Amino acid sequence: MSRQYIIVSNRLPLAWNDRKQAFDKSAGGLVSAIAGIPQHNLHWLGYMPCQAKQRLTSKEMPDTHFHPVNMPEAVYQDFYNGYCNRVLWPLFHYEMDKCSYQEQYWQAYCQANKYFCDSLLKVARPGDVIWIHDYQLMLLPHLLRKKIKKCLIGFFLHIPFPSSEIFQQLPNRRAILSSLLAADLIGFHDYNYLRHFSTGITRLLEIDNQGLHIDHDNFRTELGVFPASVDSTKIINRAKRAKIEKNKRFTFLGVDRLDYIKGIDLKLDTFDKLLADHPALHNKIELCQIAVPSRTDIPEYQALKHLVDEKVGQINGKYGTVAWSPIRYLTKNIDRNELVKLYKNADAMLVTSRRDGFNLVALEYILSQNKDNPGVLLLSEFAGAFSQLTQCLRLNPWHLDDTVEKMLQAMKMPLTERKHRWQTMFQYAKKYTAKQWSNTFLNKLINSQEQNRLHLTTVKPNKQSVTRLLRQHGWKKKSNLTLFIDYDGTLNPIVDDPKMAILSNATIQILTKLIEKNITIIVISGRPRAFLQSQLKPLNIPLIAEHGAFVFNPEKRKWQDQIKSTKDWYKRAKAIMDKYTELVPNSFIEPKTYSIVWHYRRSPSYFGNFQAYKLLEELKLNFNKSPVSVSRGHKVIEVKHVNANKGICVDNMIKKLHSSENFYIAIGDDVTDEDMFESIKGYGLAIKVGKGNTAAQARFITQKDVLTFLKTLANI
Ligand code: UDP
Repeated sequence: MSRQYIIVSNRLPLAWNDRKQAFDKSAGGLVSAIAGIPQHNLHWLGYMPCQAKQRLTSKEMPDTHFHPVNMPEAVYQDFYNGYCNRVLWPLFHYEMDKCSYQEQYWQAYCQANKYFCDSLLKVARPGDVIWIHDYQLMLLPHLLRKKIKKCLIGFFLHIPFPSSEIFQQLPNRRAILSSLLAADLIGFHDYNYLRHFSTGITRLLEIDNQGLHIDHDNFRTELGVFPASVDSTKIINRAKRAKIEKNKRFTFLGVDRLDYIKGIDLKLDTFDKLLADHPALHNKIELCQIAVPSRTDIPEYQALKHLVDEKVGQINGKYGTVAWSPIRYLTKNIDRNELVKLYKNADAMLVTSRRDGFNLVALEYILSQNKDNPGVLLLSEFAGAFSQLTQCLRLNPWHLDDTVEKMLQAMKMPLTERKHRWQTMFQYAKKYTAKQWSNTFLNKLINSQEQNRLHLTTVKPNKQSVTRLLRQHGWKKKSNLTLFIDYDGTLNPIVDDPKMAILSNATIQILTKLIEKNITIIVISGRPRAFLQSQLKPLNIPLIAEHGAFVFNPEKRKWQDQIKSTKDWYKRAKAIMDKYTELVPNSFIEPKTYSIVWHYRRSPSYFGNFQAYKLLEELKLNFNKSPVSVSRGHKVIEVKHVNANKGICVDNMIKKLHSSENFYIAIGDDVTDEDMFESIKGYGLAIKVGKGNTAAQARFITQKDVLTFLKTLANI
C-alpha cells in the first residue's frame, strides 16, 4: 500500500458557491503549496459547517479526498471563537489584554482536537505522512501518536510563537508543549519563533536543547524554519495582465484583515500625523486601505471595526476636500485580479503589523510590481516576512515619527534605489514559491524518519523482555554476568540532599540475591570513597569511587588510588566555585580527592541554571591547559582529574577480567556514565536511565525500573 499524505487544518479549503451550485476551491496558500503532492494519495481533513458538509458529495475536486470533521456546533464555537481566537490568538500575538480565558473554552479545545483525531483515525494508517496545521490543532500530535506510533507527524505553526515569558501565562502551557513534542518535525515561519519555542521547552518542561531538535523519552523532535510563500508564478502572470493606471497622487496601499494584530489603528495615526506635519502633501497623496472583515462574531473585532471606521472618518473629515479624500477605505474582500491591480498601481505598500506570523501581502506586493517602475515596501519588523524581505523600509509601527520619515523617504526614493531594493526581494520571492515551502517541509519530515527514533529499546523490566534483550546483545545462559551500576539516579533515587541518598533495605536485599547467584556487582559512582563504603560495606563488593579515581578491592579490603597525581588545579577551582556559592542560594560545594563538585539542586531553578552556565564557561576558560575535565551533570558542575573517568576505569577492568564467557551490563543516568557506555560497547549492554541522548542501547524510563530489572535478573 502506498504512503498517504494527509493534511489536517481547521477548515477544509472549500467554499460553497450558490450560483454554481458547487464547491469552489479556496485560493489559500496551502492549496497551491501542496499542489506538488501526488493527488491520488492526498487526503485533507478539516471542519465544515453542517449545511455545506451535506453537499460535499458533489466531489468538487475528485483527486483529493476531502474528509469533513464532525462535531457539535456548540463545541466548535467555544473551540474556535473561544479558545483559538480569544485565548491563543491574542496571547501568541502579545495582545494579553485581549485574552479572555475561560475553562469552558479549554475544555472545548480538548474536545475538538479529539474530534479531529477520531476523524483522522478513520483515514490514517501506519507509515502515512500527516501534516497538521496551526494553533487550532496543537493537541492533535499527541492524541494521534498515542493511536498510531509509526506515522510521520509534521506540525506547522502559521502564527508567531511568543516569548516564553508570555507563553507561560497560558494555564494549559504544559499540555500544549508536551503534545507538540509528539510530532517528528515542528515548523515555524521565523527563527525567532523557533527560539521562543525551544526556550519554552527548557523552562516549562525542563528539557535542555540547543534549538535544533529536542530529545525526549525515546524520541527526537526536529525544529525547523520554513518561511511561507505564495504561488509566485500565478501572481507574476496576473500582474503582467493588470492594467497600469495613471494616478496623479502618490498612493500608499494597505491590505489587511480587520484584525488588531495588523496595526491598522497605528497606520491611521501615522497617516494623520503625516498630513498634520506636512500640509504641502495635501491633495498629493492618498492611503488606499482594504480592511477585510474578519471574526465578526468576536467583541474585540467589533470594537476594532468601530475604532477604525471612526479614525478614517475623522481623518477624511479633518483634511478632505470636495476634490480629495485622503483615505479610500474599503471593508470587504476583493477579487484576486483586482487586488493584484491595486498592488501594481500602488506607489508604496504600508504594512504596520503589531505582530504577524508572516504577512503574505508584503510578498504579493513585491511579486506584482512593474519592473520598470517598482514601488516601495514599508514593512513592520514585527511581521515574519521582515526576515526575508530585508530590502524593505523597516518600520517600528509604534514609532509614529519614524514611520512618517520612512513614508517621506518612500515618496522621494529615486528610481535606481527603488529598482535595486525591489530586484533583490523579487528574485527571492520568484524562486521561493509555496510549492518549495511545502516540499522543503515534507522532505525534512520524511528524512527525519530514521534519525528521530533514537533506536533505543525501552526496557520493560519483565522476565520475557529482559531475556530477549540480553540475548539480542550476546548474553547466554552460561555467561558470567558483571553489572556496573551507577549510584545516584540509578541504584538509588535522586534526593535533594546528597547526604540523604541512603540505600533501602529492599535494594540491599536485591543486590544480595544477585551476588548469591554469582553475578558480579560493581557500584561505580562519582561519590567519595567514604560514602560508598557507608552504604555498601556489608556487601563487600568492588566499588569505584570518584568516577574511577579509586577502586575498592573487596579481597584486600583496600582502596587503590588509580591516579596518584598532584592537584595544583584544585584550590583554584574551589576559589571560583566559592564565588558562585555565595551568589546562588542553597548551592554548595562537595569536595572530593580528585574532583570538586558545585551542587545547585535546591537553588532557584532559572537563576541556578543561568549561573551554572556561567560557572561552566569560567571553569572551562581557566582550566583549558590543566589535566582536568569540566562537566555539567544533573544540577551539578564538576571539575575532575581527566583520568577520574568511568570509561577509563571500566575499560581497564574489562581488559583485566575479560574472557569470552563474560557478559557486562552497565547502567547509569548521568553524562559521566556515557564514557562507561562507550567502553562497554562490544562486551555487553548499556542501559540509560531517564531522558536524553545517549550512547546506550536501551533505556529505562524511571529509576524504579532499575530495581525491577535487578529483581527480574535475579530470577533468570
Ligand atoms: N486577500 C484576499 N482578498 C482581499 C485581501 C487579501 O484574497 O481582499 C489575501 C491576500 O492576497 C493574502 C491573504 O489574503 O494572500 C492575507 O494573508 P496575510 O498573510 O497577509 O494575512 P493573514 O490574513 O493570513 O493574517
